[in-house]
Amino acid sequence: MVLSIRSVCVFCGARPGRDPAHLEAAQAVGTLLARRGWRLVYGAGDLGLMGATARAAMAAGGATFGVIPRHLMGQEDARRDLSTLVITETMHERKKVMFANSDAMVVLPGGAGTLDEFFEVLTWRQLGLHTRPILLVDSGGYWQPLTALIDHLIAQGFADPSLRGFFEVVADAAALEAALARTLGANPSPAQATHSGPAPVAP
Ligand code: AMP
Repeated sequence: MVLSIRSVCVFCGARPGRDPAHLEAAQAVGTLLARRGWRLVYGAGDLGLMGATARAAMAAGGATFGVIPRHLMGQEDARRDLSTLVITETMHERKKVMFANSDAMVVLPGGAGTLDEFFEVLTWRQLGLHTRPILLVDSGGYWQPLTALIDHLIAQGFADPSLRGFFEVVADAAALEAALARTLGANPSPAQATHSGPAPVAP
């Protein structure tokens, strides 16, 4: 069964970061997803950029799909008022459920958790396991050191130059919207309407 609604997974920090531009970018992304009718898939927490993205999407009437491991529900202040909340037993399961229910992956500024999530979908893409678009929102140039590192891996012969083509860097929420409209329109939905993970918990 194929989803009629498009779903966009947002990986981002559980902290707000120091530059207020990142919080604004997260809010703008949440709002644009709702306005476009694209469902937000995210980590279900109410902290930092994660919380800001979800609150903006909900305020604009958007659908939200949150996935959180049981042991983080308190620590990350899991929201129970999402359109769908899935509680998993492990972090691995969380990522699997988020991935299975998304048509595109968006990366806003964040820390080690965000990098883990980015590199997992990037390496799966490198291995040919999916073709979902991966879009880095380069708010305030935040991801420049990351793209420089990836260029370094390629220059030093530890990655094929094709790695650079498996993700796209966009400057801001407006550029993200244009890129998503282009890529979601071109790709059939790989996300499943149901998933093999734990049953969603009613809000
Ligand atoms: P951070 O970017 O470190 O603020 O983390 C952002 C989100 O990623 C938080 O919700 C973390 O719980 C989550 N996260 C951190 N490490 C992992 C992991 N290994 N697998 C899945 N999610 C993770």
